[in-house]
Amino acid sequence: MSNENLLNETHNPALTSWVNSANQTNTDFPIQNLPFGIFKIANTEQSFRGGVAIGDQIVDLAALSSLSLFEGIAQDAVKACAANELNTFMAMGKEAWSALRLALSNALKEGSPLQEKLNDCLVAQAGVEYALPCNIGDYTDFYTSIHHATSVGLKFRPDNPLLPNYKWVPIGYHGRSSSIDVSGRDFKRPSGQTKPPTATEPSVGPCKRLDYELEVGIFIGKGNDLGDAISIDNAEDHVFGLCMFNDWSARDIQGWEYQPLGPFLSKNFASTVSPWIVTTEALAPYREAWTRVESDPQPLPYLESEKNRAMGSFDIQLQALLETETMREKNEEAVQMSQSNFKDSYWTVAQMVAHHTVNGCNLRAGDMFGSGTQSGPNPDEAGSMLELSNAGADPITLPNGEQRTFLEDGDKVIMKGWCQKDGAARIGFGAVSAVILPAE
Ligand code: MN
Repeated sequence: MSNENLLNETHNPALTSWVNSANQTNTDFPIQNLPFGIFKIANTEQSFRGGVAIGDQIVDLAALSSLSLFEGIAQDAVKACAANELNTFMAMGKEAWSALRLALSNALKEGSPLQEKLNDCLVAQAGVEYALPCNIGDYTDFYTSIHHATSVGLKFRPDNPLLPNYKWVPIGYHGRSSSIDVSGRDFKRPSGQTKPPTATEPSVGPCKRLDYELEVGIFIGKGNDLGDAISIDNAEDHVFGLCMFNDWSARDIQGWEYQPLGPFLSKNFASTVSPWIVTTEALAPYREAWTRVESDPQPLPYLESEKNRAMGSFDIQLQALLETETMREKNEEAVQMSQSNFKDSYWTVAQMVAHHTVNGCNLRAGDMFGSGTQSGPNPDEAGSMLELSNAGADPITLPNGEQRTFLEDGDKVIMKGWCQKDGAARIGFGAVSAVILPAE
């Protein structure tokens, strides 16, 4: 069993598009990617509708749907994408996702007889505004990086960094979906109740330890009925795709409030997703074997399968960058804070889905999981400032001489993700970014 079984003509690295910008070496959106999002022309009264990124353009799926160029399930799928959210399309399941991907691939490839008609459906990405790709009904945040869990555990519980359940249970908590927004929507520094270790009583005020979390967002497509568990081998029939995700965190609020029920107001003031969902199908060339070191507990049967061992992991490079207000004023480029890889995750996407539903919990189309902060095995691969600054003890000096322990007002955090290897087209996720505005 290998990821070869998941590959089809849409992944052929030799495919090129008549959209020239899609053939440039470093584009995130070659014809092999075809990610889905929701957009409209900026500063207009237009309705939001579905789109697919190709090079520096977007195929307007509402316009394409009205041309009735596709047939059968592919036409049903593109019609669903004319709506102002992708939930209906996501609920249609893998056969529909795959049929539309193939139809789009054929229509966008070099020499397609549909070029002239599709050309009228293109919109430049530079002139659009994005919305959330779907209505996110429920949001669950996992904690799948053992490197992050261990280094954060050391800061909150030096005597007991990794709790004994970690290697058995894909740990998670139910977050809040109402405050998830799309890239580019800036937000105010949150206020809340904190109690520094030196204070005798807590006080309320603006967060002083505002952090980012470098995460992968996982979008559920087809749901399951209440009471029906999803088996690990069927898990990916329910996963529409992945995005880049910044799960902002207020560490000082978290440190005071999180026991015994876990994070609350330290996490639900803002979370930001990238505009584009890269489908699980597009990621097929980047599937990797998943392993669990022999000295660790092996997964319980519901979290174990041959398929998960063979291709459960995703080889996705993740990068966090910081652009301070000073850098912006001087036109300096954002600097890299860290880089890590989703394949270092201790638990896979399929294990998260199987675990979430083992009790019969029902997932619905558009639900989102956060992967948890993705930190790699090396200290410079830490996916949060809490780790990079050693909980504020060791300030980070930026190339322009500025220092940071946590985020300051005016800071813009940018996250990018991409997949690259020999024998496959490089595909990317685009970016997720937002600026911290001052507290009220
Ligand atoms: Mn998180």
